Amino acid sequence: MPDTGHMTPLGQDESAGCGPLIQSYAAQPRPLRQQVFERVRASGLIARSEVAKDLGVSPASVTSAASELIEKGLILEVDTPRRDGDGTRGRPPVALGVRPAAGHVAGLKLSDQSHSAIICDFAGTVIAEAHLRHGILQQDAAQVIEDALRTLDDALCRAGLERRDLLAVGLGLPGIVDSDTGVSMWSPLFRERGTPLGAILTERIGCPVRIDNDANCVTLAELWFGAGRTRPDFAVVTIEHGLGMGIVINHRLYRGALGLGLEFGHTKVQLDGALCRCGQRGCLEAYVADYALVREATTALNWGNRGVQSPQILLESLYDHAKAGNQSARAIFKRAGRYLALGLANIVNLFDPALILLSGERMRYDYLYAEEVLSAMRDMTLDTDRIGPRVEIRAWGDQVWARGAAALALEAATDIALAPETT
Ligand SMILES: [Zn+2]
Repeated sequence: MPDTGHMTPLGQDESAGCGPLIQSYAAQPRPLRQQVFERVRASGLIARSEVAKDLGVSPASVTSAASELIEKGLILEVDTPRRDGDGTRGRPPVALGVRPAAGHVAGLKLSDQSHSAIICDFAGTVIAEAHLRHGILQQDAAQVIEDALRTLDDALCRAGLERRDLLAVGLGLPGIVDSDTGVSMWSPLFRERGTPLGAILTERIGCPVRIDNDANCVTLAELWFGAGRTRPDFAVVTIEHGLGMGIVINHRLYRGALGLGLEFGHTKVQLDGALCRCGQRGCLEAYVADYALVREATTALNWGNRGVQSPQILLESLYDHAKAGNQSARAIFKRAGRYLALGLANIVNLFDPALILLSGERMRYDYLYAEEVLSAMRDMTLDTDRIGPRVEIRAWGDQVWARGAAALALEAATDIALAPETT
């Protein structure tokens, strides 16, 4: 089928300027065309009749919304192959799919170990990626921004594209992020607090940049490309330098009233407990995150003279000791696992999710999700005589986190493309 769709370049739209790019839309009813688009996006290829059935609306209203989306160049009709031996004549069945050529977006993931950038087409297929390793915490925001742009430009170069070719950019980073205003309120990556990252990058790159907590990004990746394709509700817990969480309710990422998301790592598990990076005491993160394990190791294994080594190297060393049978090292991981179990039980008691995904690079430390950890979680969950939630492990790498950021960009691009006409 000839590809004749057309989209207005979003970077030229007045609504795509540097102001608050994102409205708090979670509580607003979504227009049918947006629901149709999301259903098509989630399915890959789907017939109009199936969309109508899934959304509980009439086939005629889906046809009307689909026509509008085709006209905007966001989706297209695809002839689906007949099954062998079908024997029927005439036009093959037609499905709806996202139009890959509708535009390109970029996903950026900033972390304490490396920055990653990917370039995707509009259907979410990755066409290029780039990584920058550094391993430095608490840099000046200006330096982090330059490094992020360098990583983005590297990925663009590999894709044969330029910044002006992008419809939108999504960026995920650790810490407390106000996704509505695009402000990084606090992040272990920055020396400063309150960095208006979204506005700065929107101006530098020249297209809308949406930022979010990295746990929300990985949850979006699951929602768009993973568990969300078959489940309406699930929770994601991320274990990296800190602890994060995202929750999907009825096919939508829950961001909370202030757009800050869910700060699982800073839920309290001990009164007057260990000091957390956030400045408060007794946070779960202060018992489970890598810096907490390194702190324990410094005392228990007499590592006081290894202070110059990075937490990552110390953590690897601690894991090697535990694997080799060092009881003190094992006890440190086991204690962290018990605290994680406590946190997971609290999630179950609060949200009753059918599925919890444990995700992130640190999931290769298997002590953190050993059977005894899951068993401890079940013991601390209210006994209802029902089978508890399924827990799955996702040892995902940086690309998937960046893909979640790309999902954020796709969300931004489609929100703007589908926004009601204001003229
Ligand atoms: Zn905290």
